[in-house]
Formats: sequence, structure tokens, C-alpha cells
Amino acid sequence: MLAPSPAGFRGLLPLLQPHRRRLWAGGACMLVFVACWPLLAWLAGKLIPAIGAGDFPTVLRVIGLALGVFLLQKLAQFGQDTLLAAPALQVSQALRSQLFARLQRLEFGALEKLSAGDLTYRLTEDADRVGEVIYKTIQDSTPSLLQLVAVFGFMVFLDWKLSMATLLLAPLVAVLVSSFGARVMGAAERSQKQVSELAGLLGEAISGLPLVRAYAAEPWLQKRFEQEIDLHRRARYRTLKLLALQHPVVGFIEAAGILSVLLIGAARIQAGGLDSQGFSSYVAALLMLIDPISHLTTNYNEFQQGQASLRRLKEIESGAMEIPDHPDARPLGAVQGELRLNGVWFGYDPEQPVLRDLELTAKPGQLVALVGPSGAGKSTLFSLLLRFNTAQRGQVLLDGQDLAGLRARDLRRAVALVPQQSSVFSGTVEEAIRFGRPATLEQVRQAAQLANADAFIEALPGGYSARIEERGSNFSGGQLQRLAIARAVLGNPAVMLLDEATSALDAESEEAVQRGLSQAMAGRTVLVIAHRLVTVQGADQILVLEAGRIIERGSHDQLMARAGRYRELCDRQLIRVAV
Ligand code: ADP
Repeated sequence: MLAPSPAGFRGLLPLLQPHRRRLWAGGACMLVFVACWPLLAWLAGKLIPAIGAGDFPTVLRVIGLALGVFLLQKLAQFGQDTLLAAPALQVSQALRSQLFARLQRLEFGALEKLSAGDLTYRLTEDADRVGEVIYKTIQDSTPSLLQLVAVFGFMVFLDWKLSMATLLLAPLVAVLVSSFGARVMGAAERSQKQVSELAGLLGEAISGLPLVRAYAAEPWLQKRFEQEIDLHRRARYRTLKLLALQHPVVGFIEAAGILSVLLIGAARIQAGGLDSQGFSSYVAALLMLIDPISHLTTNYNEFQQGQASLRRLKEIESGAMEIPDHPDARPLGAVQGELRLNGVWFGYDPEQPVLRDLELTAKPGQLVALVGPSGAGKSTLFSLLLRFNTAQRGQVLLDGQDLAGLRARDLRRAVALVPQQSSVFSGTVEEAIRFGRPATLEQVRQAAQLANADAFIEALPGGYSARIEERGSNFSGGQLQRLAIARAVLGNPAVMLLDEATSALDAESEEAVQRGLSQAMAGRTVLVIAHRLVTVQGADQILVLEAGRIIERGSHDQLMARAGRYRELCDRQLIRVAV
């Protein structure tokens, strides 16, 4: 949609396609609106000399006519504005929706490069600005341009020589306007970049506030913030200064131009090329040029700023996309849940492998625990199993089928993730568990029962319709975890990837979550990233990962007997050999 094009905005034209009929109707109103201007100028030519001559009946007739024309024109303007506003707004809505869809498919790596604050700014402020430009272009710049052409055409008709003289002044204004436009655009882009960095810093500051406070780093953060807003102010000031200079300069040139035209006009009357009625019309028409020129100038500046915004939106477009499905991807039938990794190598940078030569077989229904220090590659392994990333060497198989040959949607229906941070979206409890999938309330309830969440949900005012605030702030950590477990089991996935929560819960909640988990895990293949080893003693296999390699594997007892890395980790967590 946003294919690179010289104008940038031209790429948005196909978005207008579905609104052709409204555009035509609005365009017709616009023509009526524009055509009234020369008519009014012509009437002014009749009126002014009649006023001068005290010809009252003519004055009355012409004023009556002018009123009629004005009325028609304003009606047409209303039609134009309302008919054209809707498509303009719909285009900006479509643009935003496409960008959001794009955002959802962006590769995680590309997503991480742009901070949440920055992205939010782009999708709100920048998208707004682009929307505004689309609206102004359709609804303001186009009629202004047409008015310019129509009125000037009328002036040529009245006296082409005088019009040529007028025309000579125009390039002067145009050159001035465009040279300013370019400078304003540069300044605007710098200032927008600053605002977006500010938003990024703010996002970071708000989420990191407890940390900042814990380290008494407020003065440092305040200073950083002040530096940032200072840069922002300077960039903004540069833009405003340019704008402040632009209006008087352009205004003066316009005034000088009009005065010159009056001078030449007087000479033309003297030479007999124009009568006083024609000249009155001419001056009225000339005055009618000021408004559209000023609109076009302002809009041109906004257009330039909008182009900076569009460019920033395009950066989202050009971000690397999630791995697409193979064109011959097979649908996934009923899944048993056998997971196999054959000599899997993976690195975010292929030169620096994060996972090295992984071998793993998890039979359906088995519980496999991954342990090891942070940075060992446990989450990365999960990302391969969900196909957020693909192995550079080796194979990842589900029921003997290479994940690369499956449809991502099918795969992710069969493999459910319970993340460490039990984030749920705001909305009702029912919606949070359903998470966009087709499921009846009964199925939602069953999932909640499995996750040991049904009882507390029923006790909420509103039960399954109770609202979850943003970031789940009105629920306890243990409740959120159980909601996340219910969400995972809703689709009855054959495989569950569980990133054990590290944050401590009180003993009661811990027990409730554990009960939910063990009910939810039953009958599924489960891979768990275990942080507290006490929870994995019953696992069928324990894999110890270090620097991307599996350095030990076996059951708890086998690994304890071996007195290796696992035993060391257990000793550190005060877990004794089971006797
Ligand atoms: P664990 O889950 O065991 O703590 P990870 O799988 O998160 O380990 O990380 C393994 C390695 O991969 C680490 O060195 C980490 O810095 C790196 N890594 C993780 N995610 C990314 C990413 N999106 N881009 C680049 N490197 C990453």
C-alpha cells in the first residue's frame, strides 16, 4: 500500500477507490462552489460602478443576485465538505488499520528495535497528521486550487495583458513558499523525532519508576528528561521561527503584488484597454485569489510535515516481517504432541549461535523441564517451537512434521504458551480467556475449571463478565496466572510451553496455581522452563542448558546421582536428594 513513490501520498490513492461515488458527488458540489467565484467577481464589477453612480435599482438587483449566488455557493460548500470528509476519514482509518495489522505481523526483532512509546507515537500522532493531510488535500487544497484556476481564468478573460503581469509575480511567491516549505519540513522532522524519543523515554521511565526510586536515581532521570525536553523545545522553536518568518514574508510579497497590479491596472484603463466595470471585476477577482493562495501555502507546509510522518510510518512497513507460511504448507490434523529436535542450531545472528546442536524427544504427554542459567537459550527454544524463529540447521518436528512446513496458525493452536509474566488483555474475564477464539461460555468455563480459576471467577461480581482493568491491575498475581493457564488450555492444545513465573506468590496462591497447572498439564506434552527446581522433580526428563547446549539430561534422581551441574543447581536451591 505504501509503495515508495516520489510523492509518498500518491501511494495512498488506491485507498480512495472504494469511495468513488461519494468523491464524484463531492466533486460535483466542489465545481458549483468554485464556479460561483468568477460569477461573484463579475457581479462585483456590476455593483461597484453602480454604487459609485448612485444607481439604486441596479444596486438592489445585483445585491439580490449576489445573495442568491452566495447561498448556492455555501450550500455547495456544505455538500462538498460533508461528502468529502467521510472518504478522507475512512482513508486514514484504513491506513491505521493496515499499519496495525502490519505491526502485528512484524518480526519480534524488528519490534524490539522500536520502543513501545515510539511505536505508539507513530500510530497515533503520525497517523493523525497523515490523516489530516489527506483530509485537507481532498477537502481544502483541491477546491482552493480549482478556485485559483477558475478565478484566474476569468481574469485572463477580462484582460490578458494585465493577467500576464499578475502571473509574473506568482513564481516569485511560489519560489519563496517552496524554499520555506523545504526548511520547515526539515525542522518538523527533527522536532517529531524528538517528540518520539521523548515518548520512548517516558514509556521507559514510567515502567521503570520503581527501579529508579529504588536506586534513588530520580535526579539522574530528571536530568535526562530535561535534556530531552530541551532538545525538543529547540527543535520546535526552530520550526516555529521559520513559520513565523514565513507568514510576514509571503504576506508582504502578496501585498506588493496586489499594489503593483493596481498600478498596472490604472495604466491599462488610461490606455483604454479596460473599462472601470471590468477593472472592478478584476480587482474583486484578484482579492479572491488571496484566500486560496493562503490556504494552499498553509496546506503545503502541513503536507510537508505530513510527508515526514508518512516516512516514519513507512519505517514500520519496511520492518522485517514474521516468517510467512510455506506456500505448500499442510493443514495440521489431530495432534498427538510428540516433539522432536534434530541437531538444531539457531542464532539471532547466524554467526553467533544461541542454540547449538539440540537433540530432544518429548513423547506425547511427557513433562520435560528446561533448567539452566539465564541467557542459556531456554526462551529461544520456545520461540522456535512457536515458530517465531526458525532453526538455521536441523529440524524441529511436531508429530514427525517439520514446523517449517506447517501453517503458523495451526501450529499455534496446537502449541499453547503460558508466559512468565501472566499478561492478560483488558476486557471481561470471558474475553480474556477466549482471546479471540471461537468458544462457547461453557468451554470457557471448562478451561477455567481445569486452571483452577472457576471458583474465584464465579465469586467475582459479574462472574465471567467481570472486567479486567489494563494490565490486570485489579487481579492478584496468582489469579492472573490461573487466567493465563485457562487461556492456554481453552483450545485443548496437545503441547504446552510453560515459562514458570519467578515472582513469588504467597503459599496459598502458589498452591492454587500449582493445582491449576497440574490439572491443565495432564494429558499434554509440556515443556517447562523451570526456575525453581523443586517444581520439576517429577519431570520425565530434565535438560540442563548452558550457553545453548544441553549439558546434562535425565530424571531428577539420575541427575542428582551424577553429581554434576544439575546437582550443583539443586544444592544452591537447598534441594536434597529424594530419599
Ligand atoms: P534464557 O531464556 O535461557 O534466559 P534466552 O533464550 O532468552 O535465554 O537468550 C539466549 C541468548 O540469546 C542470550 O544471549 C540473549 O542475549 C540472546 N537473545 C535473546 N533474545 C534475543 C533477540 N531477540 N535478539 C538477539 N539476541 C537475543
